[in-house]
Amino acid sequence: ATMPPLLSAIANAGRHGVLVKSAVVMERLGQVDAVALDKTGTLTEGAPQVTDVRPLAAAGPSSGVGGRLSEDALLRLAAAAEHPSEHPLARAVVNAARARGLDIPAVRDFASAPGAGVTATVGGTVVAVGSPARLLNGRAHPAATVAAALEAEGRTAVLVTADGTPVGVLGVADRLRDDAAATVTALTALTGGAPVLVTGDNPRAATRLARDVGITDVRAGLLPEEKVHAVRELEQAGRKVLVVGDGVNDAPALAAAHTGVAMGRAGSDLALETADAVVVRDELATVPTVVGLSRRARRMVV
Ligand code: ADP
Ligand code: MG
Repeated sequence: ATMPPLLSAIANAGRHGVLVKSAVVMERLGQVDAVALDKTGTLTEGAPQVTDVRPLAAAGPSSGVGGRLSEDALLRLAAAAEHPSEHPLARAVVNAARARGLDIPAVRDFASAPGAGVTATVGGTVVAVGSPARLLNGRAHPAATVAAALEAEGRTAVLVTADGTPVGVLGVADRLRDDAAATVTALTALTGGAPVLVTGDNPRAATRLARDVGITDVRAGLLPEEKVHAVRELEQAGRKVLVVGDGVNDAPALAAAHTGVAMGRAGSDLALETADAVVVRDELATVPTVVGLSRRARRMVV
């Protein structure tokens, strides 16, 4: 028997390294007319590296931290808190600590806030590691200046606090995928408009990277539910939105989208489970390919 077109398209997508979870999904992929792309792990490789370690002068005796930490002490504290996290930034911090031969102490009371960062108790100290904007919450602090300077260079700044006091800033940089610009071009041609960038990262780093790939619509500093809101807004304007993401923070948007695609290699389990399709072979350019496969299959069905 000849295979129904949508099933052959699923097999074909599989040969391109994309796992499409059902015939319904295969069909929906070809209906999309707007795209929202995540940044870290989606447009970028998701294997960021720590490039800067900047301890700050301590705020005073009430901080419980005397003086300025050494670079190693700062990195060790951050790595301890990040160790249980599966976020690409967390892996960068842990790898940087290991590369310096630092031991990473065990922690208690680990908690993560998707799109914001992590907290954990290291020894007797409550350590938070995450977005300077979220952790400082508008507070004026020298840490904000250090973070802004790193972000202006296109880095992601990560703030470390001890018992609520900023003790240092880390700079992290991630490589754009080789096929990022070509993928944006292909998606633009398929949907008649450039994709939107939806990211939890800071606007400075996001805008800089967007410019390099041909994206002008940048929504930065978004929490997971704000990514959902951005998708809903497009859908309310009558668009059928394809969301491509990798993180725990992308799962709600992947679920809300007309079709959600997760990046498999660096992707979190939650994103892979929630998505309608998974890019298993880690090539972003296969996303427009499967949209094209769906459109061809649908022409054969009708
Ligand atoms: P993106 O949407 O680009 O994939 P995320 O939403 O995953 O980015 O993260 C957004 C921001 O939240 C990061 O830029 C960082 O400031 C902060 N963040 C989230 N998780 C962590 C973590 N484990 N360690 C440090 N910072 C984090
Ligand atoms: Mg991501």
